[in-house]
Amino acid sequence: MTPKVLLRLIFGALVSLGMTAGAIAEDGPAKQLFGAQPLPTLGAPQSDGFYAKGCLAGGVALPVDGPTWQVMRLSRNRRWGHPRMISLLERLSRDAAAKDGWSGLLVGDISQPRGGPMLTGHASHQVGLDADVWLTPMPKRRFTNQERETVEATSMLKGDTLFVDPDKWSASRAALLKRAASYPEVERIFVHPGIKKKLCDTVQGDRSWMAKIRPYWGHYYHFHIRIKCQAGSPNCKPQEPTGIDDGCGKPLAWWFTDEPWKKKPEPAKPVKPRVMMLSDLPKVCAQVLNAPGPNSAAEVTYGAGGTVAAPAKAAAPAAAYAPDDETLPEDVPVPGQKP
Ligand SMILES: [Zn+2]
Repeated sequence: MTPKVLLRLIFGALVSLGMTAGAIAEDGPAKQLFGAQPLPTLGAPQSDGFYAKGCLAGGVALPVDGPTWQVMRLSRNRRWGHPRMISLLERLSRDAAAKDGWSGLLVGDISQPRGGPMLTGHASHQVGLDADVWLTPMPKRRFTNQERETVEATSMLKGDTLFVDPDKWSASRAALLKRAASYPEVERIFVHPGIKKKLCDTVQGDRSWMAKIRPYWGHYYHFHIRIKCQAGSPNCKPQEPTGIDDGCGKPLAWWFTDEPWKKKPEPAKPVKPRVMMLSDLPKVCAQVLNAPGPNSAAEVTYGAGGTVAAPAKAAAPAAAYAPDDETLPEDVPVPGQKP
């Protein structure tokens, strides 16, 4: 064997070693890697990381239609979540229809099949424990797939103001939020500050559930349900508990000052936002990305219509108030903009 041939052999071995390692943990922008996943991983459900920095193993799909829900924007393929999230949505839809005068849920984004950051919208929704539900009631008829892409939700706000339009708001919407907050696994519900204020001004009797209703940018045509880290997810990073204050005092008043709404001053030099890389996520997310999946979505669709069996802060001073860490996506809609 000539030295040249030997060198070529060594080089070849190095290249194939490198390629094997690369197949397991090739780094790249996480939103592109996770956004390209059509199906979840198989196996036990596990949320890894934080709501805004993580991924999901063993996700299941909410069926596109149920007796009391319809999933919107199917082309986004974001009807995936931890089975506890999916079962909670089904339960909320049933309870709201039976007890709250709410015909059914129009469900927006939950998570991608393997969670992770998304190519568009949402900083959170990464670990299968967040879901958006429209504040528009479900119609009696089934939407066509085309309508599910184009039908627009109704803003609850009066024009460009920060306040709810009393002609659009209803007792059934307040009842729906109360119902969602009533489940112990629900930790936070994000709504627009105007909606929170409406509840603060009008809810009589028991107000303990209002601690879970958190004001946040956007969220004026839908609300956002966040559930706790679930058993079996040792790498799931919990969020601070909300405490028991109804949140109608100083923390809410902050939202009606200029501070949360003023534009950030333009930096002298344009700053390129740092893209979240796969290597920024918990290590296990690289395995989640490469783990085997099912043959079809139907195999991992939850409950009815699928084959997966149903399983059984103290108020800070206004000036120092920090909003909840849903994180601040640049594309969160602000009043006056289309959702
Ligand atoms: Zn959301």
